[in-house]
Amino acid sequence: MTARDDFIKYLAQTSREPLGVEMVRAEGCRVWDAAGREYLDFVSGISVASVGHRHPKVLEAIRAQADRYLHVMVYGEAVLDIQAEFARTLCEVVPMPEAQAYLTTSGAEAVEGALKTARKHTGRTKLFAFEMSYHGDTFGAMSVMGRKEMREPYEPLLPGVSFLPFGDENSLNRIDRFTAAAIVEPIQAEGGVRVPPDGFLQALRARCDEAGALLIFDEVQTGLGRTGKLWAGTHWGVVPDILVLAKALGGGLPLGAFVGRRGVMKTLAENPPFSHLTTFGGHPLSCAAGLAALRVILGDDLAHQAAELGMIFRNTLDGLKAAGVVAEVRGKGLLLGAVMRDERTARAAVAAALKRGLLVGTAMHDERVLRLVPPLNIPDVDLVRGIELLAAALAEAAGRD
Ligand code: PMP
Repeated sequence: MTARDDFIKYLAQTSREPLGVEMVRAEGCRVWDAAGREYLDFVSGISVASVGHRHPKVLEAIRAQADRYLHVMVYGEAVLDIQAEFARTLCEVVPMPEAQAYLTTSGAEAVEGALKTARKHTGRTKLFAFEMSYHGDTFGAMSVMGRKEMREPYEPLLPGVSFLPFGDENSLNRIDRFTAAAIVEPIQAEGGVRVPPDGFLQALRARCDEAGALLIFDEVQTGLGRTGKLWAGTHWGVVPDILVLAKALGGGLPLGAFVGRRGVMKTLAENPPFSHLTTFGGHPLSCAAGLAALRVILGDDLAHQAAELGMIFRNTLDGLKAAGVVAEVRGKGLLLGAVMRDERTARAAVAAALKRGLLVGTAMHDERVLRLVPPLNIPDVDLVRGIELLAAALAEAAGRD
């Protein structure tokens, strides 16, 4: 039995067409398969490996923490120095004042916590989300997923959720005084790397303030420097009430968080207390890895690096658009989307890239879009090489080589 046979036979499959590369090693912006083939990684475990795979400082922190303690107590009871230091470092760099973080193991779990906290804090029930959004696959997170065909098989979901068109200021007046919260990705990643028009997030902020509703930013994919600023909301000068994070937050280990003002977060301990708990949230190993990764992101100014490298990347993609290979280019920093003319062409592009030693993937809700998310600290030469491979693969897929 090979690992591939076991994968097919014993792991429940999530699609008919898994990528299926047998990955045996990863380092920096590279992954190797069982046959010894090397790939440049422009997927990063879907925006997880922002500091690259196996960053030495992350490994060192994991080893040091493993020598001290692993799990010792559920979240929120014992003082664990590594959790406390991670939370302080994170809260010092989020845009809201007097921030406190609740730590989880995943993005979906952080979304659940944010939605529950918004309902309990406001005493209201209605929620607004946006078409083409993705917030995770648990029942609560799925209830705010902006794609009907994904929700339908699992209905009934949470009541009181409405969807608004992403980017449309005119529909925001539906957010009313019965609304607990609006949840939005400042840039929709799985929706096809959709950047809202300028003014939209400001208008959403203003409408939530008028209605007394909380604004939740899901920055699971856009946060921590990915878009060229530490937080994507900052591109438009908008600060949420609750910020949801995961993916790159753990430096490669499972870690999520929702972060809000003390006045909002204190609701977790009240009426009744113990109504939102987690055993493994903020696992000490994850916090150690996350703290090391966060220090690398801040210390090496990877947000700035993402902005600069993103510009180089974008230039090439704009050229491919001019040549008719790509229909549209979207995104900011190193969260970029190349829109192909149809899904078939995008699938062919993924295969053509793989053949050339480059990992790329499509956005979940819009499979015409290649989501391009290399590590933020990818060396210039590797980025340029990856872009060359990508350009050749796209041209082949589009039948223009
Ligand atoms: N929010 C966004 C924006 C995401 O992209 C994802 C994962 N793709 C999630 C939430 C859910 O995170 P997780 O898979 O860790 O539950």
